[in-house]
Amino acid sequence: MMVGSLHDNHGRRFEYLRLSVTDVCNFRCQYCLPNGYRKPADAVPPLRPDEIGRAVSAFAALGLWKVRLTGGEPGTRSDLPAIARSVARVPGVRRLAITTNGWKLAERAQAWRDAGISAINISVDSLDPARFAAITGHRRLGEVLAGVSAARAAGFDTIKLNAVLMRGVNDDELPAMINFVATHDLSLRFIEVMRTGTNPEFFARHHLPGSAVIDQLEQRGWQRLPRAPGAGPAIEYGHPLAKGRIGIIAPYARDFCASCNRLRLSADGRLHLCLFGDGGIALRPWLQRDADHVALVERITAATFTKTPAHRLHAGNSGATPHLASIGG
Ligand code: SAM
Repeated sequence: MMVGSLHDNHGRRFEYLRLSVTDVCNFRCQYCLPNGYRKPADAVPPLRPDEIGRAVSAFAALGLWKVRLTGGEPGTRSDLPAIARSVARVPGVRRLAITTNGWKLAERAQAWRDAGISAINISVDSLDPARFAAITGHRRLGEVLAGVSAARAAGFDTIKLNAVLMRGVNDDELPAMINFVATHDLSLRFIEVMRTGTNPEFFARHHLPGSAVIDQLEQRGWQRLPRAPGAGPAIEYGHPLAKGRIGIIAPYARDFCASCNRLRLSADGRLHLCLFGDGGIALRPWLQRDADHVALVERITAATFTKTPAHRLHAGNSGATPHLASIGG
């Protein structure tokens, strides 16, 4: 297979595909789907495993070697292992990851690992059971933490926890979360809450800059780690006595978009050049036959060249994204 490379007009190279397999989510996170998932009037069925396989083949031919399955909640798709297998077998894919809310993970971790997924991010916004329930709408912290243990037992290479950082909601838990990472061999990512089309009031009340975490880490002797070549936008910290690491995803920080190395495919087969862009570029008509591979590669290449240098979140513009579940967070 000839492997090319994919660049935009601003010198950024793309190696990482975030692939939404569904926009359906069963949790009701306050910052994302506080009233639960509602099927849009114009909903179409999500991509089938064969369509996903063709899409990933085209991205892999362009040098994208890391794929993350996301959503919505990917675990709501009963054919997830088949999807994972079809992605993992694409030549050029070297790493298959998943982001999940941990629902039923303890039962599923081994099947997902056996299907070729080697890295897992699990969302845990609070380590307090009542607060976890208030944020997500589910009394399932115990189940999710059992899923984290099951992921370890299943042999995932990398296990990361994602916590959305929210002023007045979970920021008082920063010391407890930092201690948790110090004593567990896993990484934790603090994600600044992002403004989307449907959460502007929540965002205004609860946004907290990642610098709040950085201050607490530095006070406790954590040190910034050098950026690995090809790494994404997370700022990584480690501590000589801590088992785990902490990353901060701060989309409102200066130059956040300069290291962007990712593209997104929504569950209905649209290429999104930015999480906060104006809408996706339809690829689904080119995903129906293997014979359209070259045309698909050309369409992706031409579209990527038009990627804008940065999001417009600072101007209060979150693009056409109603919430992250809609195109894959
Ligand atoms: N359902 C899966 C999960 O819960 O991890 C995957 C999809 S979810 C959209 C992916 C990640 O995006 C989760 O860690 C979630 O907390 C985060 N997220 C969703 N909306 C967000 C927002 N407005 N700001 C910051 N993070 C958000």
